[in-house]
Amino acid sequence: MKITKTILAMSLAAVMAMGVLSGCSSDQQSLEKIKESGEIVMYTNAEFAPFEYIGDNNEIVGVDVDIAKELAKDLGVELKIENVKFDTIIGAIQTGKGAFGAAGITVTPEREEQVDFSVKYVKSKQYIVQKTDSNFNTIDDLKGKQIGVQLGTTGDLTIDDALMAAADREDGTDGILYNSGAVLNQYNSAPLAAADIGTGKLDAVVVDELPAQAIANRENSGLKAVEMKYSDGSTVEEEYAFCVQKGNTELLEAINNTLERLMAEGKIDEYVLNHTTQE
Ligand code: GLN
Repeated sequence: MKITKTILAMSLAAVMAMGVLSGCSSDQQSLEKIKESGEIVMYTNAEFAPFEYIGDNNEIVGVDVDIAKELAKDLGVELKIENVKFDTIIGAIQTGKGAFGAAGITVTPEREEQVDFSVKYVKSKQYIVQKTDSNFNTIDDLKGKQIGVQLGTTGDLTIDDALMAAADREDGTDGILYNSGAVLNQYNSAPLAAADIGTGKLDAVVVDELPAQAIANRENSGLKAVEMKYSDGSTVEEEYAFCVQKGNTELLEAINNTLERLMAEGKIDEYVLNHTTQE
């Protein structure tokens, strides 16, 4: 018995030491290493126009890319973009695979436990994409409906929470959609989900404001985007920020400097306008 306990304690200590040496070190993405290598790696999901999407030349473009290019210029390095599933971005930054995440990422308390966020640079709200002749304005209107979301997004979390019973919810009341027959359908991207409104599989897709409008504004989409309200008229408000590995303050400061400069110069509004009208 005693031996087993000792072995257990020893292996526990070894595992903890490994954690300190590998996963928890932000060294690989330090500002110094980035400058030395001449390259900074951004993680994103290019399915979120106007923030990141595939442009005419098959390159990833968008508001976040424009910002990231300014950051790279400010640091004197090249920008490299890794296009991955949205729900893997935070993990990739947490483990130091990439230097920063930029994907219209909403700051939430849960995510703040996993990564460090920059200053916020864009405000957003949740919208409901639907057929032009549908009439969904509030979450209540989605009772009994087939609802699509992008996996791991705040739209996903909002609808998931609305579907839960009192026992699983923070405020101890049943969610608005609980027991209504509404079904949550998770997709890898909002445009993919929206395509299923066309096929009749879904009634609505819940996604951030500008991406919702980008989807609805596509030629012959047959869709519209409506701000999603609670029955008391309030909305689901969010703010976007870039994220870095916890404790990587030097890189975070560099990102904040670039973001603050661009905001002061009115550049971010300009980028949004450029990528909205070019759709
Ligand atoms: N803002 C939303 C979120 O952070 C959606 C982001 C996205 O799909 N790229 O969850």
